[in-house]
Amino acid sequence: MPLFQNATFFTTVNHIKDLPDTAAEVAFVGRSNAGKSSALNTLANRTRLAFVSKTPGRTQHINFFKLDTGGEDYLVDLPGYGYAEVPEAIRTHWVELLGRYLQTRESLIGLLMIMDSRHPLKDLDVRMLNFFRVTNRPVHILLSKADKLSRQDQQKTLAAVRHALDDYPGVSVQLFSSSKKTGVAEVEAVVSAWFADRQPPHD
Ligand code: GDP
Repeated sequence: MPLFQNATFFTTVNHIKDLPDTAAEVAFVGRSNAGKSSALNTLANRTRLAFVSKTPGRTQHINFFKLDTGGEDYLVDLPGYGYAEVPEAIRTHWVELLGRYLQTRESLIGLLMIMDSRHPLKDLDVRMLNFFRVTNRPVHILLSKADKLSRQDQQKTLAAVRHALDDYPGVSVQLFSSSKKTGVAEVEAVVSAWFADRQPPHD
């Protein structure tokens, strides 16, 4: 059974201090509008799994989905960053909070990042990568809305992003399209391997 297909909504939290205990989790981040909700729904093969509030400036929710691994394993949908309508100070504050979560969450075994394939590696994306880099945990990047690019431009973008991230060990990149449902098996293989390779907890 594909990893995400039987994902079920578990809980929503509004503050990082309220995060539940989990055995292992993979977080999903990206700039608002990059296609994260669509990707979640595509991965879960449902249409309204990720019905998050999209009102800019409202309390930003963190949604937990339980994965079908047989353990206490979760996918954590983090709020999108970079809303143009939100004042810079609030945007920065939220990025700092996300950064703290990414750097301190012990059960976080890997990070999924989504970027619009037409505008990859924006400033805040690079900040997220830099926040997470210190953890030495893997990152897998989905270049979303690949259907909006020609085949040639898809390959060019993929190569350019990979090249730009040469100095980031443990970062992998793929094309993804929710509209065409392409790239699903590739994400599943990467994230399944993360869960399979997880280190047992220390005593
Ligand atoms: P989020 O803010 O990151 O959760 O982004 P959404 O999933 O809401 O997507 C933002 C916009 O991009 C919406 O208008 C989607 O319909 C569109 N979109 C998302 N994924 C795709 C895709 O794979 N292909 C195309 N063509 N449009 C997409």
